[in-house]
Parts: sequence; structure tokens; C-alpha cells
Amino acid sequence: MRFAVNLARFQKDFDEMSRIGRTPEGGASRLSFSPADRAARDFVSTKMRAAGLEVFQDPAGNLHGRRAGTEPGPTVATGSHSDSVENGGHFDGVVGLLGAIEVMRTLNDAGVKTRRGLEVVCFLAEEPNCFGLSCFGSRALSGKLNRSLLYGRSDRSGRTLSAALESLGVAPAAILDLNPQAFRYHAFVEVHVEQGKTLFTEKIPLGLVTEIVGAYRYKVKFKGQADHSGGTPMDQRRDALAAAAEAILAVERICRKYHPQDIVGTVGVIQVSPCMINVIPGECEIIIEVRGRVHFPKSTPVAEIKKALQGLCRQRRVELQIETLMEDESQPVSPKVLQALEQSAIELGVPFMRMPSRTGHDAMHMAQLADVGMIFLPSRDGIGHHPSEWTDMEDIEKGLQLLAATLVKLANA
Ligand SMILES: [Zn+2]
Repeated sequence: MRFAVNLARFQKDFDEMSRIGRTPEGGASRLSFSPADRAARDFVSTKMRAAGLEVFQDPAGNLHGRRAGTEPGPTVATGSHSDSVENGGHFDGVVGLLGAIEVMRTLNDAGVKTRRGLEVVCFLAEEPNCFGLSCFGSRALSGKLNRSLLYGRSDRSGRTLSAALESLGVAPAAILDLNPQAFRYHAFVEVHVEQGKTLFTEKIPLGLVTEIVGAYRYKVKFKGQADHSGGTPMDQRRDALAAAAEAILAVERICRKYHPQDIVGTVGVIQVSPCMINVIPGECEIIIEVRGRVHFPKSTPVAEIKKALQGLCRQRRVELQIETLMEDESQPVSPKVLQALEQSAIELGVPFMRMPSRTGHDAMHMAQLADVGMIFLPSRDGIGHHPSEWTDMEDIEKGLQLLAATLVKLANA
């Protein structure tokens, strides 16, 4: 079935959204829990209501817009997020969110009724935020957050996560009491821009995601001895920064070895103390991130990295502390949803390819609550999280047509 998505109407909403939190560089700054993201969420709920959806906020702070089906029971959900990184792009999240609302309006215009209801979800705080947590809303909804996390985290200004949640009318206690089973969906399909080069290079408008690769993050502390750089001979040093430098190279070396298995590893954060020209660094902290399908047994890259770190710290007489920030395992999509997407794409006659998602998404956590699938759209030059992020409107139109056809198919199946 082909639905005539009203692209001009989508574009109008898209342009309006891109003015919320617009930066001087032309990007978007709608950080999670910021006034700009609140304004974006207000805009989204207004649009949901105007599309005739029944709007409510769940205990985890996600916004929902429900379109009733002819029968009661779990709905077929779609959606994405309104927040952005600092000075990010306008397409990330917004295409899948405003696109979902446009698809509901398209179905209204066509007088389409579905057996199961349909639901648009605007997830809270998808991007990594000042509280060190990404995909907040979908993690919370799927019951993955605990008390120490909800009450124990605060940002650099000292604002606690629980205070930030309360400012949105979300009670942390209600998140702990939430029953994920009450939020089961028949299926969940998310449209998102790829933020990678594959579709753009291959000149293929649609990507059907086969799995969302895992992400593993560790805060690593090296404790040596701060000493005078002039007075301490080389053989008596316990240099924390030198140990960290060796560790960073170990991450690179080990992940390169796993390149055939599509593993990537990065150290993007480093802090040195005391950070003075004539003092041997006594302490150093780095954050290691490894992404990919690392759950194959034994000799995983993460285990290898940890072993390498222990070895080099022993040799350098530097104390090592490893704190796990996040261990999200690779999540395959539902074969049922993938098949529905593939069938619909064939019926629409639009070229597509199967591909893994190398970035994390709410769909990863929604897999606890639903059969999930994802549609990727080409990102020009593969750029994401940057003001120059771009996806052509013609590709968005194809993606939304595929979304509409697939949602109807899943809702009537
Ligand atoms: Zn996103």
C-alpha cells in the first residue's frame, strides 16, 4: 500500500522545530532537560494533539500520542527524540519524531483505520547528557534504571538528576515503581538518519537495520605519585599520565586487531592532575568506549583491554581503578519487523539495503518491550552531531512512505 505523505506539511513542522534552540552556527542545541528541549516537547505535544492523537506523559517522562485502533490491546509504536547534542544537527531524532506525526496525519487524511492502535513516542533525553546517561526515557520505560542511578547522579553545576526529572513533572520514585509490562507494544519501528557514510556512498535511499551494535564505556583512573619533575629520577617515577598514554595506545592496538569483526574503540576524554609543567602527573582519568558485537565468548576486546591495563599498571607501579559506566549489548532487530519492512520496501519499489546500526538508539531498549525494527536514511557525507548534518527531503519522503506502509501492515497483521 502506498500512502501520499504530505512532505510540505512535514517540512513546515521541521523548519519550525529547527528554530527551537538554533545556534549562531546554524546547528541545534536542545540539550536534555534544558528549556530548549522543553519548548521542543511542548511543540511536539501540540502537533500530536492537532493530529487527533490522545496525548499523555508516561512515568518516565516520555510523551505519547495514541491513535486508537478498532480493537483494544498493545499498539504499534514509532517515534524518536527531540533533544540534541550541543550544536548538533537538525535531522537527528527530529526526522523520526515529526515524521511519525506526519504519518498519523497521512493515515487520517486517507481515512485509514487499523486493527491495533498506533502510537507516536517522543523519548526523553536520548542523547548522552550531563548526567552521563543516554537513552534515558527508553531505559527507564524498559525497567533498566535503579535507585542509586536515579538518586546518585548530578551534573557539573551540582544539579541532581532527580531535580532535573522533577522539573519535567517526572517523579524518580514513579520510575522505580513503573511496571514495564504495562508498556508492551506489538511492535516498534524507528526512522532515523544514519549518521554514517554507508547509504550515502552506496547511493541507496533506505537502510533496514539488522542489529544495533553494543556500546561499552568505562571510567579508568590511574593513581601514581605526583613528584617534582626535576628531582625525581626516571627509575623512581610512578607517572599516571604515562600509564594512561600506554593504555590509550593499547585500546587502539587491540581494537585494530578486531577490525574484521567491526569493533571500534576510542578514548575521547582525559583529565590529568595536577597538570603542571614541573610536576609528574599523580593522577589521570580517561573514558574508554568500545562499540561493536563484543559479546562473543572468551577473548573479547574489552577483556583484553582490561588485561593489558592491569599488566602495564603493575609494571609501572600505578594503581588502577575501572568503573563500568555502561554495558549495552548488541541488539538484533525482530525478524518479523524486518520482514514487514522489506516486503513494504519491495511493494513501494524503493531500493534498500540491510545494514547494522553503529550508533545507539532508543529502539535498542524498546526491544525489551516490543518487536523492533529501524529504517535508516542517508546522511550527506556521513556527517552527524554537527550543524552540517543533512538528509534530502526526497529520501525522508521515501522513509515516511515505508514507515506508513509498515505500521499499517503490522497493525493489521
Ligand atoms: Zn538520534
